[in-house]
Amino acid sequence: MTKKMPTLKELQDKILTYEPDADVSLLRKAYYFSHEAHCSQKRIEGSPYIGHPLAVASILADMHMDYKAIIAGLLHDTVEDTATLIDDIRGIFGNEVAFLVEGLTKLSRMEPKSYKETQAENFRKMFLAMAEDIRVIIIKFADRLHNMNTLEYLPPAKQRRIAAETLDIYAPLANRLGIGWLKSSFEDLSFKFLMPEVYRDTVSKVAKKKEELEEYMNSVSDIIKKEINKEGIEAEVSWRVKHYYGIYQKMVSQRILFDQIHDVLGIRIITDTKSSCYATLGIIHSIWTPIPGQFKDYIAMPKSNLYQSLHTTVIGPGGLRVEFQVRTREMHLIAEEGIASHWVYKEKGKVNERDAKYITWLREMVKSQKDQRDAKEFLEEVKGEVTPEVVYVITPKGEIQELPAGSTPVDFAYAIHTEVGHHCVGAKANGRIVPLRYHLQNGDTIDIITSKTHGPSKDWLKFVVTQRARNRIKQWIKKEERKQGVILGTRLLETELKRHNIPLSHLKSKKLKTIIESFSIKSPEDLYVSIGFGKISPHQVANRLLPPKEKGIEDEIALHTKNIKEQKEYKGINIKGIDNILYNIGKCCYPVPGDELTGFVTRGKGVTIHRKDCPNLQRVALDDARIVSVEWEPDDNETTPAKLLVETVDRPGILANLSALISAEEINISHLEANSYSDRNAHLTFILQVRDTKQLSSIIQKIAASGGVLMVKR
Ligand code: MN
Repeated sequence: MTKKMPTLKELQDKILTYEPDADVSLLRKAYYFSHEAHCSQKRIEGSPYIGHPLAVASILADMHMDYKAIIAGLLHDTVEDTATLIDDIRGIFGNEVAFLVEGLTKLSRMEPKSYKETQAENFRKMFLAMAEDIRVIIIKFADRLHNMNTLEYLPPAKQRRIAAETLDIYAPLANRLGIGWLKSSFEDLSFKFLMPEVYRDTVSKVAKKKEELEEYMNSVSDIIKKEINKEGIEAEVSWRVKHYYGIYQKMVSQRILFDQIHDVLGIRIITDTKSSCYATLGIIHSIWTPIPGQFKDYIAMPKSNLYQSLHTTVIGPGGLRVEFQVRTREMHLIAEEGIASHWVYKEKGKVNERDAKYITWLREMVKSQKDQRDAKEFLEEVKGEVTPEVVYVITPKGEIQELPAGSTPVDFAYAIHTEVGHHCVGAKANGRIVPLRYHLQNGDTIDIITSKTHGPSKDWLKFVVTQRARNRIKQWIKKEERKQGVILGTRLLETELKRHNIPLSHLKSKKLKTIIESFSIKSPEDLYVSIGFGKISPHQVANRLLPPKEKGIEDEIALHTKNIKEQKEYKGINIKGIDNILYNIGKCCYPVPGDELTGFVTRGKGVTIHRKDCPNLQRVALDDARIVSVEWEPDDNETTPAKLLVETVDRPGILANLSALISAEEINISHLEANSYSDRNAHLTFILQVRDTKQLSSIIQKIAASGGVLMVKR
């Protein structure tokens, strides 16, 4: 691909070569619209921004995408990066283009979330759009390819992040959709930025090898071409170099050195029919000795991304190993272009049979994820299902089931049906009983033994390989735990009510609805689960059912405490310039923004943040190596818990006064407890959600000045 910016004229001409009826005026409109929208922006290298959408559109035209996809390519960044609204696009360019652009627009960052979470949610959104219209991902691929080609202009940290994401998600996805050239480009470009030295080393070694073996490869190609032609078979014979990342992967996975790789160079034979492929293979094997175990028949057993070819490695002239790939022209097209090979989107929504196979995978995945709230797991599934290494096993009915290599009978059972998975208790491979963690072998006939009374075990999660099995098992366990929670919660609450002589019928009354709302949960069942899991105490519920006059100070506490979930990850802390680190707040000193801080690296639970003068810290932190300096990042929207000890005279109404005072300052009380000592005063411990030390000291002053308060301290 040229680095020179393509022009609108060139783009237009290119599209007209394969789509003569394309609406050129709409295309020009899109170009000027995008130009206008991005006019104040520049790419990081300093060129006008329009060069980027234009390059993306040009890649799409090289892939022979229809003109609407190309228009969407020109507009793909307008909604995300400029003031343009999706409705503007819908108004001018229609629903189809608007749908594509919308699918390519990241979610706006409403709430502060970690990078990983945001990333996962954006992918989830894109996948949902892609399941409806595959062009969404093709345009995203083109966008990513151009960004990878211009990655050198970005700062190194950003380069690495984008390259890692490309290698992690886009390359496997391109592979899954069968677009071989794109997978290789993504991998090599990522490789270059992630491991620059290894990359350069590989490039130079490959170049040297290529030079050394050029004559040899030409002569072997000539020999085989002559022999094939003698048999009357038409064939193109060429040789090529494996892509760099593929070589590197082979070195790593087989723990070998560059010189031990025999298929850096390979010969590819493209012929007309399937039978010519097998005939050609026969000819190769009759000239040179094949190496046992190296022959692979991907024609009879296509890879899951529909890749087809015959692979064999032989001992060539002079004892050198030579790898051959034999395929038909059509198989070659599929191997290179995958889903993009058959562009049949002239009528939206109509896809041919082959594309349907790619899309089935996608739809299956999206469907299995419908009730999955966790976007991160969704992303794992996308990556997980891309595994190209597969094992083929046979059902008792003689059907072939394809599973990722390393799959177990449990994976197989879930692949057949969720219920078979849930009730699976044993398995037979070729008639013999095997353990559930047995690794399925190619050609095994697998028979699953089920029992209606058995359910999945948590242990299965340790050995299953497919996301499908993993998700189903997790869902079952969650459901089961919930059931147990309801039973336990109900029992605990009933016992508590009996203790207070509250009739159980109260639980059926309207009151229950109010109580449920006061805990901000959804249903009575959720209430029981929360009690069963210890999130809400049965005592709290009983209190709310009691008539108000019987309330003691403890009940007042429950009344004035907002049920705030304990946060596990706080935002806005910086540890020597690293953000998004897992940390928690020291429960001994409750630091808030404005305090001087010290971080203590715990074993396995991130960093605990303490006030610099926390006595507890001085006791535990003898090990200097585990101390890090930290500072708050100012954030007006975040609150932090602060602990206050308040001593008051024991008089009714005092707590209500204090609560009113605190909430008048718009501060939430997330926890409150009372201790009585022999002095008959009330000792209260508040956990308040405050913004910073300023707000905290102002509330301390107000509390101290309030009637009946004897003492306030942090
Ligand atoms: Mn872009």
